[in-house]
Amino acid sequence: MRTTVGIIGAGPAGLFLSHLLHLHGVDSVVLERRDRDYCERRQRAGVVEHGVAEALRESGLGRRMDREGFRHDGIELRFDGRGHRIDFPDLTGRHVMIWAQTEIVKDLIARRLADGGQILFEAEATAVEGIESKRPCVRFASAEGVEDALECDYVVACDGFHGIGRTSLPEEVVSTYDKVYPFAWLGILADVPPSCDELIYARHERGFALHSMRSETVSRLYLQVPAETDTAEWSDDRIWSELATRFELADGAWKLGTGPITDKSITPMRSFVTEPMRHGRLFLAGDAAHIVPPTGAKGLNLAMRDVMLLAESLRRRYAEGDAAGLDAYSDTALRRVWRAEHFSYWMTSLMHTDPAATPFDNRMQQSYLEHIAACRPAAAQLAENYTGLPEV
Ligand SMILES: Cc1cc2nc3c(=O)[nH]c(=O)nc-3n(C[C@H](O)[C@H](O)[C@H](O)COP(=O)(O)OP(=O)(O)OC[C@H]3O[C@@H](n4cnc5c(N)ncnc54)[C@H](O)[C@@H]3O)c2cc1C
Repeated sequence: MRTTVGIIGAGPAGLFLSHLLHLHGVDSVVLERRDRDYCERRQRAGVVEHGVAEALRESGLGRRMDREGFRHDGIELRFDGRGHRIDFPDLTGRHVMIWAQTEIVKDLIARRLADGGQILFEAEATAVEGIESKRPCVRFASAEGVEDALECDYVVACDGFHGIGRTSLPEEVVSTYDKVYPFAWLGILADVPPSCDELIYARHERGFALHSMRSETVSRLYLQVPAETDTAEWSDDRIWSELATRFELADGAWKLGTGPITDKSITPMRSFVTEPMRHGRLFLAGDAAHIVPPTGAKGLNLAMRDVMLLAESLRRRYAEGDAAGLDAYSDTALRRVWRAEHFSYWMTSLMHTDPAATPFDNRMQQSYLEHIAACRPAAAQLAENYTGLPEV
């Protein structure tokens, strides 16, 4: 098989790249090791930055998001039994959309297939070869074990943290930066209308909690739990009781609605960056290159930003014969990646209870939260990063 851009992975990064390239008249083939149903049902992120939502609209994928998703103009920080609203439009002129990653993936798959795009499901990439030549090639195997090869001009690995893209870079050119946190998130999906209009980020001495939503009838909630937690340790009653404690307001003016829990999962918390994000004709994008803890809602957004940059660079390469964007891709993408890494690390450190924290550390957290609640520039800094910095 031959194409112009070989893409490994049909997550949001690989699918959006393939869609944008199609709009620019550049051919691609997507190899995905899972089946379509699995890709469309995987529960993950739900906050879409202002600029990424705009990019979805501009590329013809905003209609369902605008109809069924929610525009959110703020979040609530809740600590010491009080709530403090961060008003995004007032502080930044921007907002975010609440629109699940699963829905973005569904729309992208449907659109690629309707446009005649090639997504090979149950095709696992097994090796990337010739990345220092002009004819790189991805070897892959079907579910039945039939082997084939995809030759292309460029390979883009959008194959997530556990894919083969990152490990295909020569060891001697790669540097990695890693931080593992001593806690995780227990996430639930519940058939209950959200108890709030906007996301609530709660810091409590027993740990962090987040109230989010998927629709008018489905809530998504998270609890900070120890890193090695098994969901079996958490009965539904225990989860609801712990959530109610962590979200409680001092004046008792708020009540958490409960309902049947339909999904429970554990998300480990990790920060990770690979440098560079390109070697020869192999590019890395999304989780293949970097991971953030989900507190700053940046994982999905970074993945989408990487491929927006890459799609424009490939457009210039083929429409204008100008490879400058491709040559600058790694440095340009990494500037945004490190900004998001810092923001995600900062939000995580601010909102979670570290088991090793001293009373002094706890006072530091509390003092900074009070500063954000009282000081407009401090709140603006949070809002700028959360809604997505357009200039980075
Ligand atoms: C459990 C979980 C919960 C999360 N929750 C949040 C959240 O609340 N907020 C947030 O901002 N972010 C969250 N994230 C992060 C966010 O979902 C990711 O940043 C986002 O999915 C990155 O998209 P991607 O396309 O780069 O990678 P992925 O979505 O991981 O897609 C990679 C794709 O490549 C495929 N693949 C892998 N190896 C191969 C191979 N060898 N051959 C072919 N295909 C391959 C995989 O099957 C997958 O479909 C979460 C992540 C996880 C794992």
